[in-house]
Amino acid sequence: MHVDERLPGDRASLCTALMTAIRTEGTDPDRLILTHKCTACGKIQRNKVAQDDNRDAIFSLMKRKS
Ligand SMILES: [Zn+2]
Repeated sequence: MHVDERLPGDRASLCTALMTAIRTEGTDPDRLILTHKCTACGKIQRNKVAQDDNRDAIFSLMKRKS
């Protein structure tokens, strides 16, 4: 969800639209950087992967890249 505006975790955005993962960076599944794009305003946000992120979705993104 799009909740961060300037910094990851700042919760300053009022958009709250769904954000979808469009890209992954890195090869270690525990230290990946995920790039999300907001489906409403198109904002790009890069975040470190979180424990509660969907691993299946991440791995399918990684496979799509290679
Ligand atoms: Zn947004």
